[in-house]
Amino acid sequence: MRVLVTGGAGYIGSTAVAILQERGYGVTVLDDCSTGHFESVASSARFITGSILDSKAVAEALTDCGAVIHFAAKSIVGESVEKPDLYHEVNVNGTRNLLSEMARLGVVKLVFSSTAATYGEPEVIPITEESPTKPTSPYGTTKLAVDQMITAESETGLAAISLRYFNVAGAFNSKSGWIAERHNPETHLIPNLLRASAANPLKVFGKDWPTADGTCIRDYVHVVDLIEAHILALENLEPGKHEIINLGSGGGYSVSQVIDAAAKVVGHEIPTQITARRAGDPAVLIADISKAKKVLGWTPTRNIEDMVGDTWKSQNAFASK
Ligand code: UDP
Repeated sequence: MRVLVTGGAGYIGSTAVAILQERGYGVTVLDDCSTGHFESVASSARFITGSILDSKAVAEALTDCGAVIHFAAKSIVGESVEKPDLYHEVNVNGTRNLLSEMARLGVVKLVFSSTAATYGEPEVIPITEESPTKPTSPYGTTKLAVDQMITAESETGLAAISLRYFNVAGAFNSKSGWIAERHNPETHLIPNLLRASAANPLKVFGKDWPTADGTCIRDYVHVVDLIEAHILALENLEPGKHEIINLGSGGGYSVSQVIDAAAKVVGHEIPTQITARRAGDPAVLIADISKAKKVLGWTPTRNIEDMVGDTWKSQNAFASK
């Protein structure tokens, strides 16, 4: 089967493209390269440069495809607060356009890249798929709106699974080299702490949180485990059904614990500086992943050392080029 991967030039999307190809799937990528990197995609994939808002580009990209994995989106929480209209336009209207073209062309299988940001500040940990959805950013609001749009669409026959990611990390050593996070600016903890130096220490956003060591706790999942779940989702789609499934590891690490794990991986202390809390950060986010285990038969197998270690190896490989 040929799969359309929207946003296939981004960090998670390009990892999906490489793994799908290694599993024998044909792949078409639709990406406007606004944040992704064209060179992250192997030339054996069909590449359409265009936006999900462009019906013509979407229709062209859907040619011969039996399913869609939809990653294309604006995805920075802070930016979404500054530019809510842009987030609504790309994430909500772009997906509306994609769903309309899929319906028109008879493509009825969809795996959607959703997010834990749809839940907002949790009342109970771990977070299940039944937890209240009260997003605290326009990013989370737009992703929740898309999940609801997909539920409505499934009532007319679409087979869909939304995967709600917690903190995705790590890198993939594909046949054509490392695929890793290359955001600009980079806001994520693991790539940032690996670039920290005495002159530029890692900023730890608050040590006064209500957690055992005072730093925030997150649920980190390796990008390769995450993509395994997408392929299982693709293989478990049922017509007329929309499942929403959390993807994390089911356990949490504090920022200080991630820093300690990284120090072990790189063999020296990570220079840090405690700063004020970052706006919008909840204290603790941990996923309940029992539904992913039950519905998809998925269990993540890579730990925090793997995530830090693979990010480290990929950064060294890029630096030596
Ligand atoms: N964090 C930090 N310094 C950084 C980046 C992140 O202390 O330079 C903290 C952040 O406050 C959060 C955790 O690390 O508690 C994970 O943040 P990240 O941006 O990686 O992912 P998010 O949880 O925002 O999706």
